[in-house]
Amino acid sequence: MTIPTVELNNGVSMPTLGFGVFQTPPDETMFAVAEALKIGYRHIDTAAAYGNESGVGDAIKQSGIARSDLFIETKIWISDYGYDETLHAFDKSAGKLGLNQIDLLILHQALPTAFERTIAAYRALERLLDEQKVRAIGISNFMPEHLERLLSEVNVVPAVNQIEVHPYFQQKDVQAENAKNGILTQAWAPIGGITFYRPGFSKSTLEDPVILEIAAAHGKSAAQVMLRWGVQEGRSVIPKSVKPSRIAENFDVFDFELSPEQVKAIDALDTNERGGPEPEAVTLEKYGREIPEA
Ligand code: NDP
Repeated sequence: MTIPTVELNNGVSMPTLGFGVFQTPPDETMFAVAEALKIGYRHIDTAAAYGNESGVGDAIKQSGIARSDLFIETKIWISDYGYDETLHAFDKSAGKLGLNQIDLLILHQALPTAFERTIAAYRALERLLDEQKVRAIGISNFMPEHLERLLSEVNVVPAVNQIEVHPYFQQKDVQAENAKNGILTQAWAPIGGITFYRPGFSKSTLEDPVILEIAAAHGKSAAQVMLRWGVQEGRSVIPKSVKPSRIAENFDVFDFELSPEQVKAIDALDTNERGGPEPEAVTLEKYGREIPEA
């Protein structure tokens, strides 16, 4: 089974479905990614801040899969923002991943209180793109006001904005702004992980009666229905799991289709309750931490 691809705004092709590794312990990452590659995933989403880029790199090395068949995405952490710092952060990530070139390199968060450092970091991404050290560049957790500020000061429109999107938090305004600017929305927590692995949410997307009813109608799981919903609405989705059966389950979403009514029913589940940190409140003081050398 080959995964459908989407063409980014600079013509680079990316598998729509990727494999996430947030909270995957470093010593389990190689195993989880190796399993994903065995099943057929070709797009991996990691981040400097996850502390597991080396595990991703080990799995890539051992897979024997041609480099050109893989799509590797990682993120620069806020502590490495600034022009020279971000150029060096590329070296750290590329070193840990064992790669000369990264397919998609994105800024993990905007730093609203130090936006000039965010801009400088993005300019470093533009240079890396120009030097072909990365094939595409993007952003994550940028709200429309951050995006507007960025676009007014840089040359390259981000290819991707990776944001929290699941049935309970859909950020339709951010998705619309991305689309208006030719930026692909990539959904993090696409099966709503944050609604059940993080205390505070009153209900889990996996137990939602509307989603379960749709799942039963297709003989699929709730997770599969949510991934299918994301793909049908044109998003890139990057589910995470460390369990082989779930890694396979999350890959098996291309042999059924939700009806327009089913898509609409999931659209109606939005609660507007954010699971991740409020993007406007991300500061170096609160979230800064050193990213080790390769
Ligand atoms: P997901 O929506 O992918 O959910 C992951 C959780 O769901 C884990 O607890 C996993 O547990 C469980 N799970 C996975 N598959 C199934 C299944 N089929 N049935 C039941 N439970 C399942 O959330 P994430 O937050 O991990 O988001 C996905 C990816 O997005 C991340 O891994 C990361 O790459 C990226 N991300 C980016 C962020 C950003 O700020 N840019 C923030 C958060 C995530 P188990 O592993 O035990 O199976």
